Amino acid sequence: MSLINLDLSNEEIINKYFNDLCCDKYIEPSIKGGQSNADNALNTLDIKNYAKTRNNVFPIEKRGSSYLSAYIRHGLISLPEVWNFVEKFEYQDKTKFRDELLWQEFSRHLYAIVGKNSNDYLNYAIKSNKNIEKNYQNMNCINSIKTELESTGYMVNQTRMWFASHFSLRTGDNWRNYEDYMFKHLVDGSRFANRLGWHWVMGSQTGKVYGFSKFQVDKRAKSFCDNCEVKYNCPIQNWPEEINITKKTIDVDLNLETNFGPESIKNNIDSKPEFVWMTAESLGDNDPALNYYSNLPAVFIFDKPLLNYLQLSTKRIIFLLDCLRELSNKRSTQVYLDDPIEYLKNKNFASTFAAVPKYKKITRVNIPTTEFPSVRLVKPINFYPSSYSSWKKRIELNT
Ligand SMILES: Cc1cc2nc3c(=O)[nH]c(=O)nc-3n(C[C@H](O)[C@H](O)[C@H](O)COP(=O)(O)OP(=O)(O)OC[C@H]3O[C@@H](n4cnc5c(N)ncnc54)[C@H](O)[C@@H]3O)c2cc1C
Repeated sequence: MSLINLDLSNEEIINKYFNDLCCDKYIEPSIKGGQSNADNALNTLDIKNYAKTRNNVFPIEKRGSSYLSAYIRHGLISLPEVWNFVEKFEYQDKTKFRDELLWQEFSRHLYAIVGKNSNDYLNYAIKSNKNIEKNYQNMNCINSIKTELESTGYMVNQTRMWFASHFSLRTGDNWRNYEDYMFKHLVDGSRFANRLGWHWVMGSQTGKVYGFSKFQVDKRAKSFCDNCEVKYNCPIQNWPEEINITKKTIDVDLNLETNFGPESIKNNIDSKPEFVWMTAESLGDNDPALNYYSNLPAVFIFDKPLLNYLQLSTKRIIFLLDCLRELSNKRSTQVYLDDPIEYLKNKNFASTFAAVPKYKKITRVNIPTTEFPSVRLVKPINFYPSSYSSWKKRIELNT
């Protein structure tokens, strides 16, 4: 077990503890971690013209995206908070933006129910007749997307769709490898939103594929095409061909508590917690368990076996370190590199439920003394959300 000394610089920490656990050498993410950076991003959020500019890719100054995703993904700002913050904006922008927040919540609901089954196709199996012989090497669009992702840890929604479509429907051996590549580098990388994005693009969720061709690049990032070596011989001039879609079924358990955790604060064991166990899903000052037990130390455990397997980018680790260091300036915080299943054994701790398989696995073995419900934009559901539109018709907001 290693206790990480947060007085060291990020670079020292990465070199000392994470060298063998990451896929790259030290790279700072463009979006900085920490509650104060998250608060600042929310307080200065301006979604004027979001509806019109959200899909812009390049030049960067024309983008309408908010860059909030890493803060939302790690619970530094909650979806209800962002939802309420945008009340003051024009109807069209507010409605479009809130719809995206709902997509985020939809991805969490879906993942809470399907969990690891999302490794496989959801409602439709997809088979595309890929032309792997074709030369896709010198495409400026794909290369620029990868460069931005690897050097900053961020991608706009459009380029995520292009990348996913290209490597699942046109080329690529197995979509999961490319999904993993994005997940490793995206500072907002989550299995819920990333997987849903891939399923949506491939058509495995809706039965309709999102095709990617030169058309979108010309429209949203013309300079990529203008400066492309293969502009007169573009390998993606046309839409991907011959995609075979077959309906399939998926087995799900709709038990509300198993999927979504407790509805109210739950004392599982008759003793007092000695610390608050924080997870990467809920790292903000307003984490329910942290808030409630304001005098208890916070403990965060970098999951060594999991990191060894995932080989995330240092950008993601640095983002988390910045969040934890800021927290440690406000209250006692211990950060470990260990196996959480081992660390939490026979300890009394409080935690906030996270609707992800890893949290569920850890707390099946190590039951939290006190467990808090997660913060949600939409109340938990007891039906399988087969599509975003059918889900949206049945939900109840928590705002
Ligand atoms: C293939 C693919 C992979 C994706 N992987 C992730 C991921 O790992 N993590 C992640 O948070 N989002 C993911 N998304 C969703 C979306 O692309 C990002 O949330 C968004 O681009 C983040 O940038 P932003 O905060 O500037 O977005 P904005 O456009 O400003 O949106 C505001 C917020 O709404 C939510 N949001 C916006 N679009 C979506 C969407 N399509 N689905 C779910 N939530 C959305 C995010 O929380 C975002 O921060 C993925 C989408 C696709 C198509």
